Amino acid sequence: MGLIVSKFGGSSVAASRKIERIVEIMRLDANRRCIVLSAPGKGPDAGVKVTDLLIDAVNRALNRQDCAAPLEAIKARFAAIYEPLGVGRARIEEALGGLDARLGARDSHPGKFRDSIVAAGEDMNCRLFADYLNTVGIKARYVNPKDAGLVVTSVFGDAQPLPEAGANLSALKSACANEAVVFPGFFGYTVDGDVATFSRGGSDLTGAILAEALDASEYENWTDVDGIFSAHPKMVDSPRQVAAVTYKEMRELSYIGFNVLHEEAVRPVMRKKIPIRLRNTNNIGNEGTLIVSERLPEERDVVGVASGGGYCSFTLQKFLMNREKGFGRRLLSIFEEMNLSYEHCPSGVDNISVILDQEQLKPETVNNIIRAFDEQLAPDEIKTEFGIALVSVVGEGLVHKVGVMAQATGALSKAGVNIKMVNQGSSEISMIFGIDAADEKKAVNALYKEFF
Ligand code: ASP
Repeated sequence: MGLIVSKFGGSSVAASRKIERIVEIMRLDANRRCIVLSAPGKGPDAGVKVTDLLIDAVNRALNRQDCAAPLEAIKARFAAIYEPLGVGRARIEEALGGLDARLGARDSHPGKFRDSIVAAGEDMNCRLFADYLNTVGIKARYVNPKDAGLVVTSVFGDAQPLPEAGANLSALKSACANEAVVFPGFFGYTVDGDVATFSRGGSDLTGAILAEALDASEYENWTDVDGIFSAHPKMVDSPRQVAAVTYKEMRELSYIGFNVLHEEAVRPVMRKKIPIRLRNTNNIGNEGTLIVSERLPEERDVVGVASGGGYCSFTLQKFLMNREKGFGRRLLSIFEEMNLSYEHCPSGVDNISVILDQEQLKPETVNNIIRAFDEQLAPDEIKTEFGIALVSVVGEGLVHKVGVMAQATGALSKAGVNIKMVNQGSSEISMIFGIDAADEKKAVNALYKEFF
């Protein structure tokens, strides 16, 4: 196996023994030569993520309030993790990189200021971790994203990698041959040289970008769960772990219910068909879940049952709707003009529904939508429904298998679950059912029992 990019999330770096565990993991496979770290997250002795402490400090600074409390808490976190590992207080202070002074020097651009501070959690962690690796006999180097050329768009707080980042970062291949490269997750630099972070959880994306640039043989993503399960453990008792899913299945599963990986992290690795392996730092013996480009023959037709609540629907009824040109376009443009995104749009001959994440809606928005429907579409009837859950049966095998829909609807009806909406995407990787939120658990269990 060639080079492995290993990314460790916030919970995997939250305590001294977790840092020691990473070293143990690195020693188990010499190919783990590119390490990407998050900032320390919640841990057994810490209730707040370092990134949240940094955000608190930024907000205080912007409001001209005292930042001492979050700043002290940040220093205390790093000291608690690295001092027992022999990294001295002076070095920890140095790695802070004058955060106190930087917090005092508010930039006129709040987004720029925010990102320059918030990125410090990952940056400090990697500087200290690289030091620690050298003390335990693993030759390692902290690499700054600016020096390495991780250039990103200047959308502060939600940056995207620029196309040239890949070619720039590929130069790190030779560094990885000589020593372990320790690369901070979550941020890059704009072409003007400003720090810009990805959206929350964005260290996953850093790892994926590096895996692509370095032509890694595998991208490991280490967290505190064993991998993906066939149903969410909050919904079903001891669901089975899935050995492998495809990128597409992963996307369908994470759409509702399985938030194991940052949404954007799949794209870079998918381009080069690099497998992602989700693994658990607390359970090294478990092989995790592999995310691959093509379906493995031994996997089942259905890989999982995902679910999520908090959706609403707008249903319009209009006689001869099917003959009215532009009806669908005008309907969707109403949502677009109100800056709302929609999830599904199932339709019948004379009716059409639009399903949305209801969190986007304010009470007045609902009235505005209904008014726009009346004015622009003149429907015979408008029905709104809130508190809908979506339950999805996912698997690339659905395309070849006859009768899965019948099996699923049969299981739901036997469990007494009323189906309000069915949507089977044309890719035939998933079938999604809209049901009453109160039935979510019952529905997931019925489907899980049916397919597993
Ligand atoms: N530390 C950042 C966050 O908490 C990024 C990450 O962990 O991936 O969102």
